Amino acid sequence: MTPLRLSILVAMAKNRVIGRDNRLPWHLPADLKHFKFLTMGQTIVMGRKTYESIGKPLPGRANVVITRQTDYEIPGAVVVNSLEDALLVCEETSTTDTENFIIGGEKLYQQTIKICQRMYITEIQSDFDGDVFFPQFDPGDWEETQRDKHVDGNLEYHFVVLDRNSSTT
Ligand code: NDP
Repeated sequence: MTPLRLSILVAMAKNRVIGRDNRLPWHLPADLKHFKFLTMGQTIVMGRKTYESIGKPLPGRANVVITRQTDYEIPGAVVVNSLEDALLVCEETSTTDTENFIIGGEKLYQQTIKICQRMYITEIQSDFDGDVFFPQFDPGDWEETQRDKHVDGNLEYHFVVLDRNSSTT
């Protein structure tokens, strides 16, 4: 079987905030474009709250939504009741070209940061108020393989790619 390519995709503020009142705290169209570019044709895995925040399955991608509710149904998405089942769905549907993206939220990042091989992080270089955060991690476990700096008005943000050091897997 093809080894599972599992990547985290997140936008976070300098103070690690990723959301507020179940939505993104910033308006950054370039980041939404970046998200679309990376995920199109791939598999996206998300928690139920993130799904409800988006409001519909995202077209052109296999959508996997995790909830403990056994009667939760979404036409156009696969609903599973555990992370293990989500990873099984990814395994069963992946080809060598498939990248499986964990797209949030906080609860999903907490459970997958130890097992993903890559993180695409949009580092927003300002603090924001929020109620959900990206988990702390040891930078020594990761190698920064890309950093593209951008500015939108008075908001500076960097598209960063971190690959897990092979010694830590
Ligand atoms: P999540 O999106 O992580 O969803 C949490 C829910 O997912 C749980 O309540 C549960 O659903 C289900 N779930 C999680 N883990 C499991 C499991 N192991 N087994 C079964 N079900 C599980 O919620 P958060 O509140 O942590 O994050 C949402 C916030 O994150 C929002 O503010 C959103 O805007 C933000 N966000 C930010 C992103 C960014 O890049 N800045 C990206 C994505 C989200 P149930 O309660 O139905 O059982």
